[in-house]
Amino acid sequence: MIVGVYPGSFDPITYGHLDIIERASKMVDKLIVGVLVNSSKTPLFSMDERVRMIEDLTRDYANVEVRSFDGLTVNFARDCGATVMVRGLRAVTDFEYELQLAQTNKVIAPDIDTMFLTTNLKYSYLSSSTVKEIASYGGMIHEFVPENVEKKIKEKYKK
Ligand code: ADP
Repeated sequence: MIVGVYPGSFDPITYGHLDIIERASKMVDKLIVGVLVNSSKTPLFSMDERVRMIEDLTRDYANVEVRSFDGLTVNFARDCGATVMVRGLRAVTDFEYELQLAQTNKVIAPDIDTMFLTTNLKYSYLSSSTVKEIASYGGMIHEFVPENVEKKIKEKYKK
């Protein structure tokens, strides 16, 4: 049984992330979406909120599970029994950072491989931070995130 993890901040989840989840879930027997407690960033959404949003949106995928984690991603992957780590590549700008990360991880965890999925062209420009920035100025974000997520972002910026 091949277990994969898809780690990230998901603050919040976008259509770009969902596209990767959908495609990756067909390549492994089980896909665990790992939501990172990132101490260097102050998230807009709490861990609970981020996990719940992803759970709601992935309910129809029988082999997808959502978990939160702290610390090294490779340790999380090992705890999950995963041998594959999924990452999305949007543009060349992602490439250098992602390559360095994958190569470092390979040294500290040779049993785990990073699998890159290139984004759907439709979402190649899309990032959680852009969505938040647009929403903070009252812009339209319905093309980037599902309706429920849109509602939650708008509530945050109303406060
Ligand atoms: P991180 O803080 O780890 O970059 P993100 O939540 O921003 O967390 O991203 C998690 C993963 O999803 C990364 O591999 C990132 O490249 C990928 N990703 C982000 N946005 C998109 C998108 N629009 N299309 C495809 N993959 C994406």
